Amino acid sequence: MEGLMMEFPLLVKTIMSHAERNHPQQEIVSVTADNPLHRYTFEECFSRVRKLANVFDKIGAGGDARIATLAWNDYRHMELYFSVSCSGRVCHTINPRLYTEQLIYIINHAVDEFIFTDIMFVELLEEIVVHCPQIKGCVIMSDAKHMPETTLPNPMCYETLLQDESDEHEWPELDENTAAVLCYTSGTTGKPKGVLYSHRSTVLHTYGQALPDTMGISALDCVFPIVPMFHVGAWGFPFAGTMVGTKFVMPGPSATLSEPKLLVDLINNEGVTISAGVPTVWLPILKYTEETGRHLKPLRKVAIGGSACPLSMMEEFRDLYGVQVVHAWGMTETNPLGAVNNHKPATVILRGEELDRHMQSAGRAIPGVQLKIVDDDGEELPWDGVAYGALKVRGPWVCATYFKLEEASDAHSEKGWFDTGDVATIDSEGFIRITDRTKDVIKSGGEWISSIELENIAMGNKAVAEAAVIGIHDPRWQERPLLVVVKSDGTEVEARELIHYFEGKVAKWWIPDDVVFVDEIPHTATGKISKLALRSMFADYTLPESAER
Ligand code: ADP
Repeated sequence: MEGLMMEFPLLVKTIMSHAERNHPQQEIVSVTADNPLHRYTFEECFSRVRKLANVFDKIGAGGDARIATLAWNDYRHMELYFSVSCSGRVCHTINPRLYTEQLIYIINHAVDEFIFTDIMFVELLEEIVVHCPQIKGCVIMSDAKHMPETTLPNPMCYETLLQDESDEHEWPELDENTAAVLCYTSGTTGKPKGVLYSHRSTVLHTYGQALPDTMGISALDCVFPIVPMFHVGAWGFPFAGTMVGTKFVMPGPSATLSEPKLLVDLINNEGVTISAGVPTVWLPILKYTEETGRHLKPLRKVAIGGSACPLSMMEEFRDLYGVQVVHAWGMTETNPLGAVNNHKPATVILRGEELDRHMQSAGRAIPGVQLKIVDDDGEELPWDGVAYGALKVRGPWVCATYFKLEEASDAHSEKGWFDTGDVATIDSEGFIRITDRTKDVIKSGGEWISSIELENIAMGNKAVAEAAVIGIHDPRWQERPLLVVVKSDGTEVEARELIHYFEGKVAKWWIPDDVVFVDEIPHTATGKISKLALRSMFADYTLPESAER
């Protein structure tokens, strides 16, 4: 028997129309290259979103064209998110930190027709588009006054295009499985792979994200996504915040880590209550607040994920600023939120070391997402917090297959499941601990050592500003851990002291054999530690003979 409820497709336009009707006066505040503090309302935003859809028709963008964005987080990027997807086109968000060859590859692979770019990426784009013959035009996200000289093909000015456009637009009635957003993985191994989110997956992820035990956001919040809109949709905040009617603060180019003061000013002046970003974005911010004694009073919560959040960072937020860290796990292929660490009755009572250990869990599955861990034969492992294996995931916002992938991907070798490439344990309460990427685990004497756990411990030492652990070839044990450290400013510390620091915190055979101090640890295009680059940096390194194992 069929249910008798309305046929109402899950489309991004429903998020927008709800916000426009119910929260028209809510504010979006942005830093942009042509305006240090732009401010307007949802009502003005959505009126411009409709104008923009008319612009797409006028400039000749195909009905389901891929329209690319190369931009920081700001109101114009928000307008593109909604206008491109609601008009039936696909918003291809491009990460400007990828290598030039990767950028050329993804623009051509996606067959982008138009690229909307921030002023600061014009030069980069000039270099790239000469290799992308299908590009029909480039729109610079600026007003006429700030338009740069450029050799881009068919350059247009965003504000000039919008200026005389009508704000009436009839949105098409799309099938909910129509593609809405395209995002490529950063391609740390092999070519970047395209993940194509649908309207349905986006809307369901949005509902899942807003839940109290996920990000728990409400109309009283002010959301500040530092995580870029060019990678996995700023973790879904532009859609989730719009749906519940939060105020937005968008950092624009100031999200580059060199300007912690600007970010802290925005948090305090605009009353930011929730922010989000990978662990590396918080390091300069916390260093700045510590040095200047500035507070983060309005802030109540920060979502940290994308790589393991060190315990010391969670404690600093909690103990110095009264801010709750919501530790989250996800990936491009999961839109991206898969699991979030919020308490259950069994964990809210934990104290001391048990609580510390629990806080390092990457969380439990968001309703809708299913997780399992399997051994080498694909057999499911118990949820006992001890057994570890390949983490697999499925759900309505999990990638079923990559966009136009020529060769089959191992990630989808088990029907109906996606292999995340992570190794994890799951405890009896459903909380996962990511021990490593499959390719980063350190295999010592037939056993596995978790590089993430060692990094977390090292980060707890005040002398350590940033730490990474990689496996170094060892003739006897196959691999042994090497700790690579950036010292905190003005601190002196010896390798020996750091090695002793691990004693009693992990099994003796897990303790790194050596410590190397560096000025900087290499990062990927998404701001994570690049183990690949580190491994090649230390390709010729040999471990000291004296190390005890
Ligand atoms: P890329 O780094 O290629 O852009 P993603 O941004 O999709 O890919 O990163 C996904 C990966 O990041 C996960 O598979 C996992 O290895 C890692 N990751 C994400 N969140 C966490 C977390 N909380 N703890 C540990 N690792 C995490």
